[in-house]
Parts: sequence; structure tokens; C-alpha cells
Amino acid sequence: MKPTPFTLPDPDWTLRLQDALVGWYGQCARQLPWRETRDPYAIWVSEIMLQQTQVDTVIPYYLRFLAALPDVTALAEAPEELLLKLWEGLGYYSRARNLQKAARMVIEHHDGRLPADTGALEKLPGIGLYTAGAIASIAFGLPEPAVDGNVIRVYSRLLGIAEDAGAPAGKKLFQTLGRHLTDPRDPSSYNQAVMELGATVCTPQKPSCENCPVSGQCAARVTGTQASYPVKAAKTPPRIITWQVICLWMPGRLFLVPGSNRLLKGLWALPMLAADSPLPELRLESPPLPVGSVKHVFTHQVWQMALFSCRCSDPETALSHYPEGRWVDSSTLSELPVSTAFRKALKQVLTSGITL
Ligand code: SF4
Repeated sequence: MKPTPFTLPDPDWTLRLQDALVGWYGQCARQLPWRETRDPYAIWVSEIMLQQTQVDTVIPYYLRFLAALPDVTALAEAPEELLLKLWEGLGYYSRARNLQKAARMVIEHHDGRLPADTGALEKLPGIGLYTAGAIASIAFGLPEPAVDGNVIRVYSRLLGIAEDAGAPAGKKLFQTLGRHLTDPRDPSSYNQAVMELGATVCTPQKPSCENCPVSGQCAARVTGTQASYPVKAAKTPPRIITWQVICLWMPGRLFLVPGSNRLLKGLWALPMLAADSPLPELRLESPPLPVGSVKHVFTHQVWQMALFSCRCSDPETALSHYPEGRWVDSSTLSELPVSTAFRKALKQVLTSGITL
């Protein structure tokens, strides 16, 4: 679809949209724990967790995180192992590490309080244009746009915008549009209303237009072209990487190593090596036993992991080869932050007769 020149909606259209969305949000919004607070810290944590993660998945993590680390100081001072344990299973662990870095900066430069200013918020690690706008509008009531994927879908359908939102010109256009449409009378409700509409009504597939409070203003509905928006450039397919993963074990104990890959930083993992590397020469009770494979999908990579069960008779065998590793029993294993890819691998290995 070819982009056509775009003009911003007129004041009357804009006002009707704002009134309809804010009114609908007041009646139909889902009750979510982060909507019951105006605490900027809690809203910030929720926004970071919600990046690339579904609402239902986030809720228990959010509650657990806030119970353990209720404020900026607690987050800044938390041991990394606790922080990553609280994040285990959510993925994208750099989000947790950036949260902590940012909390330390908030203490150092902002007296322990998140700044009510998008420019200052954007200087904090992990906070980009969208998150700064979300915190500023939701926690501080500032008339700042918060344009995420849901909002882009809604706006592109409402106004029939055929610009690729991933390209620089598209990003600029949707940000300008967001600023123009954000309701200065109630930016918090307005921004959450557009996001809520995108998440629950104007969904990527089969939008529920008959339940939409702004269907009368929607260009895509009139032309029946909802499925054509938003326009997106073709994505590069993720890279497939094959690993050999070694599960070294003794009765009641399993051997873990610190994650060496960028995606596993700060987490514990099983030793792994490239598919074409020879398995390390370890003194084992019996030869490595193949015990199947598991697949894990990251954003830009798919890991295909071939698993080997290796029973050791001497703990030094593993430590001499991997001096930074450690032997753990099942209760320690449950306390350590382990990436989801390796939790999956462990589940598979544990069905092959290992006893922990
Ligand atoms: Fe989305 Fe349909 Fe509403 Fe248009 S009418 S904004 S396509 S839900």
C-alpha cells in the first residue's frame, strides 16, 4: 500500500475521539494491579515488564516483584541474583538489569524519585520514547503521547495511514499524531484507553469493530480494510543456532555454569558448545548419552539444543573443565536464576532417568 500525504485531524474530530475513548475506558477498562496506583515506581516497573510480554503473564511477576522490592531504594540495593530470580521466565533479562541501573541513577541524580519529565526519563537505561511518555502521562498526568504497537494499529486503522511504522518517517508521523491526539484534559486515561482498545478490541486479527467506541470515525472500517493496517516491512527471519548442551550430574546433584552467551548474562545455565565442536573430554562413568533436543525461540534467534546426559563419578571432573561452575542440589536449583531455555532443557533431561 502506498502512503498518501497525511494531514492531522481537525479539532472537532479529535475532540469526539478523545471523549469517546476516555468515556469507554472509564466503563470498560480491565482491572489490572498497576491501574490501582499512581506510584511512578510501580507504573515504571509495570511498563518495563509489559514490553514484549502479555498482560496475563506479567501480573504475578509484577505482584511478586513489588512485594520483594517495593521502592526505588530496594531495587537499587537488591543483589543481582535476587533481581534475576524475580525476573526468571519473563525473558529479556537486560530489562531487569537496566531497571536496577536506572534505580541507582534515580537515587544519585533525582533524590530517589522518578523525574516528571520525559527528557530526563529517557536518559535512564531501558526507558525509550514510549515508556517515558507512558510514565509521564499515567503517573504524572502530563500531556505526553505514549505510542506503542497497539496505538499504532488503532491510529493506522482509524485514519487509514499506510506509512511503515518501523521506518523513521513512520515513527515520526505516529509520534506527531500521538502528540496531537493525546487528550490534555486527562492524558493518563486517554493514553491507556487507546492502548486498551488496541489490546482488547482493535486486535491484530479479527478486530471487534461492532464493540468499538470509535467505529463511526474509522476509515478502515468504512472500506473494510482493517487487515491491511498497520503496514509493516517484511521482517528478517530469526537465525537458527544449534548447540550441544551437556547435563553433568551425579545422584542428587547437577552441574551449572554462569551463562556465557549475551542472552544468558547473569543467569545460570548448563554447559553448552557449538554443534560442530567435539564434546569435552571428561572422565565420565559412561559415554555421554543423547537425550533428545529442545527448541527455544528468542526475538532474533532460535536455539536448537541437542542434549547429552553425562554421569560423573567425581565432582572435580566438571570443575577442572569449568572452574566457574558449581554443583547444586534441587533446592539450590530452584533458588537460582536459570534462563527459560535451560529450564526447558532440564525438564527434558530430568525425564531421562536423572535423579535430583
Ligand atoms: Fe479498530 Fe474496528 Fe475500531 Fe476501526 S472500528 S478502530 S478497525 S476496532
